[in-house]
Amino acid sequence: MNEKINKLSIIKPDDWHIHLRENEVLNLVLPHTVKNFARCIAMPNLNKPIIDYSAAKKYSDLIIKKANSKNFRVFVPYYLNHNIDLKNFEIGIKQNYFFGAKLYPSNSTTNSKFGVNNLEKIYPALEILQENNSPLLIHAEKVDEKISIFDREKYFIDNELQEILKRFQNLKIVIEHISSEYGAQFVNDSSHPIASTVTLHHMLLTKKDVFNGDTNPHHYCMPVVKNEKDLIALRKFACSGNKKFFLGTDSAPHDLKYKEGTNNIKAGIYTSPIAIEMYTSIFEEENSLNNLETFSSINGANFYDLPLNSHKINIEKVNWINPDFTEDSKIKIKNFMGGQKIKWKVVSN
Ligand SMILES: [Zn+2]
Repeated sequence: MNEKINKLSIIKPDDWHIHLRENEVLNLVLPHTVKNFARCIAMPNLNKPIIDYSAAKKYSDLIIKKANSKNFRVFVPYYLNHNIDLKNFEIGIKQNYFFGAKLYPSNSTTNSKFGVNNLEKIYPALEILQENNSPLLIHAEKVDEKISIFDREKYFIDNELQEILKRFQNLKIVIEHISSEYGAQFVNDSSHPIASTVTLHHMLLTKKDVFNGDTNPHHYCMPVVKNEKDLIALRKFACSGNKKFFLGTDSAPHDLKYKEGTNNIKAGIYTSPIAIEMYTSIFEEENSLNNLETFSSINGANFYDLPLNSHKINIEKVNWINPDFTEDSKIKIKNFMGGQKIKWKVVSN
């Protein structure tokens, strides 16, 4: 039945996990998010991580000003670290300057060197989150030289996450950018208040798209994309309408100089320009277009106890070529699937 659908109208989606960065990059990437998303959670791993509420307020005010759209909203989580000013943290949570808190295990991804390698240090902050029904957002990877890069999610879940769940039974948790069958199944089966965001690239790529032949820096992200069976499981859970899974692009722009011609390739894929369109293609391939709105515009809002957006967007089956780059005179960011034909297009909103 779905094969015949060539027009959709859905509640304007939210992007529950995105990197908007700062300065010129922010200016360049923000319009892509403002156009097709009503709200977003902007990650706090800036060059100077966001660890006090005045910085969170400053960052969200700046984004709103630049967005120049009265309907757009942005949420900024606190960046958990080993030296939390609990008083400032609690005020920030209670006054909604922070949208929960983000846990980066140290050195797991871009600007995570200030992150956490001793969970005990963040337990007082997790108490505050739990008391205030405020979410803990997790980059769920255990970084250890003895653990394969492909198994980091499993090890984090089996060790750190289990410990957190045991101590904080009512803490609302989101495993961000879930990347493995093991992780998605865990979220599905858990009786805790736990959910996951799912990126489009984890539903389109496997490790052969990154590591066969020369490493493809433009498909290199954290957590790394995995095997076919993982991709299939992520598609199954995301496209099923399961309320524990919702949209978070993890769109993560880097200037070309951090991706090409360097031995220190930064992790992250810039997907914002085609995000809604490619999620739509994936749901179409899975014969699940009827669940697209649930995944992109309803499940996340419900999990976070937020109202649904009142605006809608229209998506039509129209072929167009995605430009290779998002760029201005100073910055050049490779678009995911740049130069390729895209089969859906957001036509108005
Ligand atoms: Zn991220």
